[in-house]
Amino acid sequence: MSDITIRKAAVIGAGTMGSGIAAHLANAGLDVVLLDIKLEFAQGGIDRQLKAGGFMRPEFAARVKPGATGTDMGLLADCDWIIEAVAERIEIKHALFTSIAAVRKPDAIAASNTSTIPLHILLDGFSEDFASHFLITHFFNPPRHMRLLELVTGPRTASTVADTITRFADERLGKGVVPCKDTPGFIGNRIGCYWLAVGLDEAIRSGIPVEVADATIGRAFGFPKTGILGLYDLIGNDLMPQLIRSLQDALPKTDAVQAIAAEPPLLHDMLAKGLTGRKGGGGFYRRSADRKSIEVIDLTTGAYRPQQPATSDSLDAANGDARALIGHPGQAGRYARAVLSATLAYSASLVPEIADRPDLVDEAMRLGYGWKFGPFELIDRIGAQWLADALAADGVAVPPLLADATRSGGFYRIVDGVRHVLAPRADKSDYVPVPIADGVISLAAIKLRDRPVSTDEAASLWDIGDGVGLLEFHTKMNSFSPALLNAVTRTVKLAPQHFKALVIGNEGPAFSAGADLSAVLAMSANGDAAGIRAFALAGVAAFDAVHDAPYPIVGAGFGAALGGGCEVLLHCHAVVADAEIGIGLVEPRVGLLPGWGGLTELMVRLQERFDDPAEAAATALRTVLAATTSAGAHDARAKAFLRPTDGIVMNHDRLIAQAKAHALALLPGFTTPVRAPVTLPEASVLDAVLADMAPSLAPHDIVIGRAIADVLSGPITLTHAELNARAVMAFEALALSEPTRARITQMLRTGKPLRN
Ligand code: NAD
Repeated sequence: MSDITIRKAAVIGAGTMGSGIAAHLANAGLDVVLLDIKLEFAQGGIDRQLKAGGFMRPEFAARVKPGATGTDMGLLADCDWIIEAVAERIEIKHALFTSIAAVRKPDAIAASNTSTIPLHILLDGFSEDFASHFLITHFFNPPRHMRLLELVTGPRTASTVADTITRFADERLGKGVVPCKDTPGFIGNRIGCYWLAVGLDEAIRSGIPVEVADATIGRAFGFPKTGILGLYDLIGNDLMPQLIRSLQDALPKTDAVQAIAAEPPLLHDMLAKGLTGRKGGGGFYRRSADRKSIEVIDLTTGAYRPQQPATSDSLDAANGDARALIGHPGQAGRYARAVLSATLAYSASLVPEIADRPDLVDEAMRLGYGWKFGPFELIDRIGAQWLADALAADGVAVPPLLADATRSGGFYRIVDGVRHVLAPRADKSDYVPVPIADGVISLAAIKLRDRPVSTDEAASLWDIGDGVGLLEFHTKMNSFSPALLNAVTRTVKLAPQHFKALVIGNEGPAFSAGADLSAVLAMSANGDAAGIRAFALAGVAAFDAVHDAPYPIVGAGFGAALGGGCEVLLHCHAVVADAEIGIGLVEPRVGLLPGWGGLTELMVRLQERFDDPAEAAATALRTVLAATTSAGAHDARAKAFLRPTDGIVMNHDRLIAQAKAHALALLPGFTTPVRAPVTLPEASVLDAVLADMAPSLAPHDIVIGRAIADVLSGPITLTHAELNARAVMAFEALALSEPTRARITQMLRTGKPLRN
């Protein structure tokens, strides 16, 4: 069978999942057919996704053609991938597969989004040909944002079919594709539901305060900050028992999940009162009657009481340390130990039943449940021996794979600079390399085997192969301290000694959160005008060095790229952006304007778009004063933070590799771009914009708006340097003002902007 190209797809069932999957296929640029029982249902699904943000741009909805199964099955005839996402009932799915089999073209791939029905049951009675083109592709909700895709193939699935969908889902949909065995709940829900059920069961049993329980099963272990009971409320307290029951029905009587009540009496009583969680106006948490505070359920009485700060001896003593927390004799420590040991032992008992290797389980829990560490990574953090001892002390059998890990010193180890994982073998477990997908450049993996070409406290320069360097920031939130600005200037000068092109990127929590505000605040408080000017000029010099480099520099932008983080990307010769990037010149939130050349670069891009200088300057003023941030890379293009020629990458893991490829593509005949002068309109144009925005602006925003308007006022044509000089002066004046200090102080303290 030859390779199959996916150009057009169909989704059947336009409910929560089907409409979300259709929207995300449209995000990837496909034409999509979306069918439901009635045309209105399919159209309703599209409308819901438009409201919920399932589409990266509203106009992508036009790529989805709605229809009805009764009349429009013919629309599937030219689809390459047909995904079933109807109600979880086998007879409905079987009837649908029969109709799909009748209309699909010979190479078309069919898939089910089922959460619970095994592949062999889905395929019962279907032809060899249909079975060879069939698999389970299990998306998580919401499909645009949840990165996990569980892929289940059967003995009859053709390898080209699995390869085609794996590659497409990875590269075009941006998913982390995890191959799973054909077992109930696959990986994510099998472990995730057990973790949640144990967490609730133990919380009720111990009577621990809800807020303490959720603070305990939280950050120390890298679990989402909702904790267990908050997550119950989020998923739906009515849905969770159904999920757990369906696992109990499907799994053998000996499985550990059978020992836990799917719907403990307390939860039963809550559901009788309609306390289904966030969607039902209350659950373990709810808003008080006056909506001014939060109340929580007392797990011993079932009555609501005001939420208290999550204080406990164990949490205080552990201070965020996972081992200290599970070892503490207090109530929270005992709770943590019970939930962790049950969940981790269960996970260890399930390999190779649900997946071939522990790293696949870890990836599924990271991408599907938002755990920072998968269960095996957690065991290594806590200690395999500790867990085995805890289980033995409780009289629980130690899973064989865990016993092997205690003998070998854990599940992961580095061998010759490569991460290895302990994988079960027929005779004995052995360490095998954790595979990295073709075409992925992992900075974490490079760090295990190489040393940087140069490094200091703020940044490092790495060799990412083929003559390309990577400039990595590593300050807190990758913010621009004076040291980072200097490192950029220095590295850009030094790089050609080693490389022919450069990528600016990192694998941190954000591309860059902007200027180091504490530095600005300190200088402002001291009235240090010269210091502030020097900081502004250092930024201009650093980013000019990027722009003026005689070799290609490509920015690999992702996550938050704000303020200075946006400005540095605007100075690169090209940007390759993660599809979900949030980029923007948000300086006004902290009382400033973009002083490092960002305003000028935005004007350059807007001039490329609009013939009329007035329209360009008015748009720049509006964009910056509103602190506009993109909702993804397509939106960033619409807002002129990205050029049409900049790249967009759906899979975050592929960002650095794509940026490197882009840099190499710029290399033949590369010349430093010449900067066009910027033509500014007369002041009245910008006055009109300010007057228009004024009613919605806070007093200090009006001052900032005035400053930006003055920088952008003509009529005059300025060089890049002249316009930057204006911005630096305005930056200095704002930075020294009291209301700006107040804004910065609040941002540093709370992370939220002050509207003064
Ligand atoms: P849903 O109830 O929101 O939507 C199901 C849709 O299918 C409805 O719009 C319904 O009108 C339509 N439908 C029913 N029978 C049909 C038929 N014969 N032809 C065409 N359309 C039909 O359900 P959902 O939550 O989107 O789940 C769909 C599938 O995805 C299920 O198999 C479920 O197990 C699975 N799943 C759900 C989630 C989740 O979080 N909700 C996550 C992963 C997988």
